[in-house]
Amino acid sequence: MSSAKNPDKEDIEEAFPRNLMEFVDRFATDEACWEYFRMVRWSQGFICPCCGGLDGWTTARGTVYCRECDRQTSLSAGTILHNSRTEIRKWFMAIWLMITQKTGVSAKTLQRELRVGYKTAWLMLQKLRQATVRAERSPLSGTVEVDETYIGGEEPGVVGRQLVGKALVVIAVELDGKKVGRIRLRHVPDASGASLLGFISDCVQKGAKVHTDDWNGYNGVRAAGYVHRVTPVQGDPQRALKFFPHVHLVASLLKRWLGATHQGRVHKEHLQGYLDEYAFRFNRRRSMHVGKIFHRLIEQMVVHKALPYADIVKVAKIN
Ligand SMILES: [Zn+2]
Repeated sequence: MSSAKNPDKEDIEEAFPRNLMEFVDRFATDEACWEYFRMVRWSQGFICPCCGGLDGWTTARGTVYCRECDRQTSLSAGTILHNSRTEIRKWFMAIWLMITQKTGVSAKTLQRELRVGYKTAWLMLQKLRQATVRAERSPLSGTVEVDETYIGGEEPGVVGRQLVGKALVVIAVELDGKKVGRIRLRHVPDASGASLLGFISDCVQKGAKVHTDDWNGYNGVRAAGYVHRVTPVQGDPQRALKFFPHVHLVASLLKRWLGATHQGRVHKEHLQGYLDEYAFRFNRRRSMHVGKIFHRLIEQMVVHKALPYADIVKVAKIN
């Protein structure tokens, strides 16, 4: 057991692992992982929900033991780890692999590295993908390029197996000068105004400049509160490539990732999770501090209650 004294913010930042060695040292036991989890969950300090006591101990089983009333409070209740039978150390390793590997990690690799079943590995990744969504709260701003692309089906230049069926994905890219800044991705049922404008409203700040082609699904962009720049492409892929180079770059990187890391083994109904993970990693590609990314994801795990297996599949279908 270790003392669960109320930490201040510096203590938590001090505890960010900065590289693999620090990660391994810091999270050698389940108890150490739970202690970190507790610091994130009760960043203002532990308060016993039974008696209001402030003096608690983190146990290796993922509870905080209150010294005032002798009761134990679960650390995982209401978080992504709720009811998980997988040791928290494996969860931490999965996160570390997911964020430190340039291309992320596949369920197959996780199965092998953590010595868990394939379904467990796959579910862990899907749950972690849920946690990446909320981390993307601040909307894109400035100038934002938006276009859609089909994933799956015949793709010239994409090596490996194809996805099951075709899926339409809309991509928003915030321009950082002439370069690609942050991105947002959404699997949409169609290219209707409702689908495209819904996406833009959700992830682009009102008043931003939105650059699209002349597809009529984008007709309502101005009325939705944006400066709308329209470049006609007349259905010509060469023109699209010329005038929307940033979204097309992101589209080709995304397709390559799905094809290579996941070998095309992504079902349509789970695609959104993969898109969220991709955007999360992409938007942090220039961050030097992997520990901060790690910390951010743990924070999101705390606030995100995991959905049961059936719901993970269902939710993905709505997207
Ligand atoms: Zn108590």
